[in-house]
Amino acid sequence: MKEIQGQSFLQNHPCYNKDAAANWGRLHLPVAPNCNIRCNYCNRMYDCANENRPGVTQHIYTPQEAVSFVRKVFDARRDISVVGIAGPGDPMCDADKTLETFRLVKREIPHVMLCLSSNGLAVPDYIDAIHDLGITHVTITVNAIDPVVASHMYSMVCYDDTIYRGIEGARILLERQAESIRKLKERNFIVKINTVVVPEVNMDHVPAIAKQAEEWGVDLMNCIAMIPVHDTFFANHRSPTKDEIDNIRRFIRHYVPQMTHCNRCRADAIGRLREA
Ligand code: SF4
Ligand code: SF4
Repeated sequence: MKEIQGQSFLQNHPCYNKDAAANWGRLHLPVAPNCNIRCNYCNRMYDCANENRPGVTQHIYTPQEAVSFVRKVFDARRDISVVGIAGPGDPMCDADKTLETFRLVKREIPHVMLCLSSNGLAVPDYIDAIHDLGITHVTITVNAIDPVVASHMYSMVCYDDTIYRGIEGARILLERQAESIRKLKERNFIVKINTVVVPEVNMDHVPAIAKQAEEWGVDLMNCIAMIPVHDTFFANHRSPTKDEIDNIRRFIRHYVPQMTHCNRCRADAIGRLREA
C-alpha cells in the first residue's frame, strides 16, 4: 500500500492516521446549514458527505459563536488536534461563514490543524482563500466519475444561480469536483475522497473512482455504506453489507489507501472518534 503523502505532518489527524485516533480527537463546527446540490441519500438531516447519523447537530453557530466554543473546548482539553467544518450542509455553499470561522479559529489556536469537507461544487472558486487560511486537509465527496452514474446519485445541482438536473447537472458537478481535486493537489493539500456506496447504483463503479483517485494523486479514500433514510430517493434501497464494503476496499486499496475507521460523525462531534 502506498504511503499517505506527508505522513509526519499528518500524524495527529485522527481520520488520516488510524494510530493517532486513540490519542487525538477532532472538533466539528456546525456553521454551514445550506447546500448547493441534492444527493439522493440525504434528507438534509445529514452532515455533508453522509458523514453523520440522524440527529445531526443541535444548533448552527455563527463564526463568532463557533470560535467562543472552540476556546472553551481547548481550555478544557488537550487532545484536539484538528478543527473541521463538514456541514450540516455544504461548507462551501456557505463559504463566507466557513472561511470566517476558520480565520477566527486559526487566530485563536494557531497550532491546530484545519480540515474541510465539501461536495466540491464551489471549491474551485475558493482555492486560494482555503490555502491562505492554512487549511491543510480537504475531503471531496466523489460518488461517481461517470455522469450517467452520477445522474442517479444526485437529483439537483445549483450552479451560478441555475438549477440543473439529470446528466447536465451531473456533468457540471463532476467537472467541478475534478477541478477541485486537481487544484488542491497542485497546491499540496492533503486530499481525501469520500464515496457513498449504494448497491445497484454506484457500487460496481467504485473501482473506476478509485483508479481516477490514484491519477489525481488523492491521499486517502473513505468508502461509506449508504444508510437509507426516510424522505429520500434511496429510502427503499438497501445498504451495502459489511462484506461488500470490505471486499471493495480490498479490491481497490492498491489504487489508493483506504480509510477503515470512519465513525460517521455528527456535524457537531467533539473528541476522539469513539467518544462522540
Ligand atoms: Fe446532503 Fe452533503 Fe449531499 Fe448536500 S452535499 S445534499 S448536505 S450529503
Ligand atoms: Fe473522520 Fe469519518 Fe468522523 Fe469525518 S466522519 S471526522 S472522516 S471519522
